[in-house]
Amino acid sequence: MNNFFTDPRFDGIKPFESKVWLSSPTMHGDEQKWVDDAIQTNWVSTVGENIDEVEKQVAEKVGRKFAVALSTGTAALHLAIKLCGEKLYGKPAVGHGVLEGKRVFASDMTFDATVNPICYEGGIPVFIDTERDTWNMDPAALMQAFELYPDVRLIVVAHLYGTPGKIDVIKEIACRHGALIVEDAAESFGAAYQHVQTGCFGTASILSGNGNKIVTGSGGGFLLTDDREDADKVRKWSTQSRENAPWYQHEELGYNYRMSNLIAGVLRGQIPYLEEHIGQKKAIYKRYQSGLADLPVKMNPYGVESIPNFWLSCLIIDEEAMCETVRGETDALYLRESKKSCPTEILEALAAFSAEGRPIWKPMHLQPIYRTHPFVTAQGNGRGSTNAYIASSSIDVGADIFRRGLCLPSDNKMTPEQQDMVIDIIHRCFL
Ligand SMILES: *Cc1c(COP(=O)(O)O)cnc(C)c1O
Repeated sequence: MNNFFTDPRFDGIKPFESKVWLSSPTMHGDEQKWVDDAIQTNWVSTVGENIDEVEKQVAEKVGRKFAVALSTGTAALHLAIKLCGEKLYGKPAVGHGVLEGKRVFASDMTFDATVNPICYEGGIPVFIDTERDTWNMDPAALMQAFELYPDVRLIVVAHLYGTPGKIDVIKEIACRHGALIVEDAAESFGAAYQHVQTGCFGTASILSGNGNKIVTGSGGGFLLTDDREDADKVRKWSTQSRENAPWYQHEELGYNYRMSNLIAGVLRGQIPYLEEHIGQKKAIYKRYQSGLADLPVKMNPYGVESIPNFWLSCLIIDEEAMCETVRGETDALYLRESKKSCPTEILEALAAFSAEGRPIWKPMHLQPIYRTHPFVTAQGNGRGSTNAYIASSSIDVGADIFRRGLCLPSDNKMTPEQQDMVIDIIHRCFL
């Protein structure tokens, strides 16, 4: 690792006095009131007014009939996938996953929580490559995937970093093949596609209240649906699948996935601030966009059909401006070159001065755990006979964005002065 303190390119730069975060929680005060209410009234378990209230508020905000409050976004994804799995394949015998042996199409460049629940249910994720215009699932690759695997009936699709994917096209392709969609809107709460909010497009969709999301309950998640029966079923599953009987009566497998009324209190205080947070995140994105305009980099893209929530600002370095770099499984090397840089150098420079960035989500098809799983690009089978590592960047878009991109400090409490310093540090990387 370079010593940025003795590197003359960084002369005069001092570390931030308080760390500049990627995206940290921002409390406003109302959270305390609703948590205190729960404690004073003794409603601290998985029943209470905060839960009822956040379910109502979230459903209203997104524009869906029902929101079911759950312990995490991952739990919501698990139950969304199970719900769709049962619609497609029926109820499995106890001890068997509903997707056992079934292939499921999934976003490739995403957080692994999007796809792991497919495996909880015994399914086999087939990874669909990323498109350059939104950094989300490529509809052309999805069409290829249906050519290769016409039997698939379920698609799990995420909206990355707060930018909606081309969900209308994806939905149309799904319809044509009789497939259902589980929509992962964990990162895109409040973002809209053609003026409809993300979270409205799946048979079941999910949101997350994880600590670094745009609003947070410290944890928590939601499953969104327009079907009352589905909402009731998921609520029942999430509370150990108790039947309506005087004792603990069970006909189905249960889960302990319900949201606590304390977490719901934090979320109840946060949800009214969603729009304010989006405004702050958008201002951060725009400041980076103009501050970095003279460098050989581009911001994470979005189209005219989208209104992102700008959760994370990201950049991608032009190919010509990439210094030589290699990444192994757990470490990275690069060669310093004037007028060039790479994500590793920028992330190390930011870290040296106490600012937090992050690499782009490493695509699932490059993860050791999923290395044997199929991967489909717009050109067809991305694994083919060649190794994905040596496939040219034009056919493996996710690997290319991972290689050249990074997430910038995007905390809504970052001051303009701090952000200008971040921009300055990035400039010096290209000296
Ligand atoms: C955060 C996140 C999740 C998981 O949410 P948790 O609430 O942390 O379980 C799922 N998918 C994506 C894309 C995420 O970013």
